[in-house]
Amino acid sequence: MSAFKPVRGMRDFLPEEAKIMKYIENQARKTAELYGYKEIITPVVESYELVAAKAGEEVRLRMYAFEDLSGRKVALRPEFTASVARLAATTLRNEPKPLRLFCVGSLYRYDEPQKGRFREFWQSNFELMGSNKPEADAEILLLTNRLMKSVGLKNHKFKIGHVSVLRSILSREGLTEEIQNQVMQRMDKKLHDEALRMVQDAGASEKGIQTIKKLVNLRGEDISKVLEDMTNTVKDYAEAVEAVKNLGEILSLVAKSGEKLGIIVDAGFARGLEYYTGMIFEVYVPELDIALAGGGRYNKLVELFGGEPTPAVGVAHGIDRIMLALQEQKVKTCMKETQPVMVIPVSESLNAEALRIAETLRMENIPVELEVMGRKVSKALEDADRRGINHVIIIGEKELKEDAVVLRNMQKKEQTTIKIRELATILKPSQAS
Ligand code: AMP
Repeated sequence: MSAFKPVRGMRDFLPEEAKIMKYIENQARKTAELYGYKEIITPVVESYELVAAKAGEEVRLRMYAFEDLSGRKVALRPEFTASVARLAATTLRNEPKPLRLFCVGSLYRYDEPQKGRFREFWQSNFELMGSNKPEADAEILLLTNRLMKSVGLKNHKFKIGHVSVLRSILSREGLTEEIQNQVMQRMDKKLHDEALRMVQDAGASEKGIQTIKKLVNLRGEDISKVLEDMTNTVKDYAEAVEAVKNLGEILSLVAKSGEKLGIIVDAGFARGLEYYTGMIFEVYVPELDIALAGGGRYNKLVELFGGEPTPAVGVAHGIDRIMLALQEQKVKTCMKETQPVMVIPVSESLNAEALRIAETLRMENIPVELEVMGRKVSKALEDADRRGINHVIIIGEKELKEDAVVLRNMQKKEQTTIKIRELATILKPSQAS
């Protein structure tokens, strides 16, 4: 037995799981088409500077960063947004807006492996660039809801907040961006007491501290009530009032869309990535306490990378976490299975004929597994039976002389002689079942 195994935090996906991953990926691709997002492919290796710029301490410290053989400081991408923003700031800077871009692939973070948390994971990522309007934020929420529904998830809920509510208060209270980032990191980890102490130590007024304390405890599913409470709480901070208003506009559009989204508004909600400037959200299901997706508005990132000022909003859906949620909810993913046909030559001298017939069938889009182990027909049939194959084609000398083969139905245990030219027509309908 070999001692090799995947590196800690890395996984192999065997056929059953790989199939579900690809299914979710395809649903994401369909969602992209439905909403007009064009797929792009960006590199796994990016410059360290780019991905570190606004990733936030949490992600920055967990990057797979190294020097390549020419001494360039590079990193395996820990997220997609930086790469897409790089493109918007460079190659795509003159593209008409809005830009709707979709990508899917693997990301790398040196997280502590646990259920649903790995060092290599997959996301489908949607970015809508060029619009600062609430309808753009609403679109990102709605397409996320559509994807979750399309894969068959049940009872998913959106946790939604607005970074500008907290940040504008911290700003007014004189906290530098760096300290704000540290406070937000603590908030993200629900270390509220620690965050409040930081705010206090940074010299915020008693009113500021009390306002944040109240916000941290303000959340609920009665959207208009929470928004009203938020407005009252932040009434002395004009920018924060604006932020709550913006959140209200987004949620009102979502409510009018005709789709029923489960929403919890959370005034003290923060996310680890530092680039967010507006609405932020995550998606949860009751069976798991980890987020299936996360996103929000980031209006400064493209500019930070040297592009035109470009307001933007986006989302990343964790494909492997969605798979985990589907497994927890025991959802059967409705994927069409194409059953292969097995082709078995009765003797080695007929190998070439078997190969030729297999290729003819594949030309007709019929999946074929060829017997390549040199087994006797009885042994090969046993194997076909074990693997649940429905149809087997047995190539024999006698039948070949008549341009025919034996077609065996494994379930009915019946077999007939069939002309080779008729095979495709006979086998095709059974492929659909
Ligand atoms: P983020 O890029 O941190 O906003 O994360 C977006 C989504 O990616 C999360 O909601 C998760 O579904 C997924 N995700 C992030 N980190 C991991 C990880 N270490 N393992 C698996 N999925 C992850």
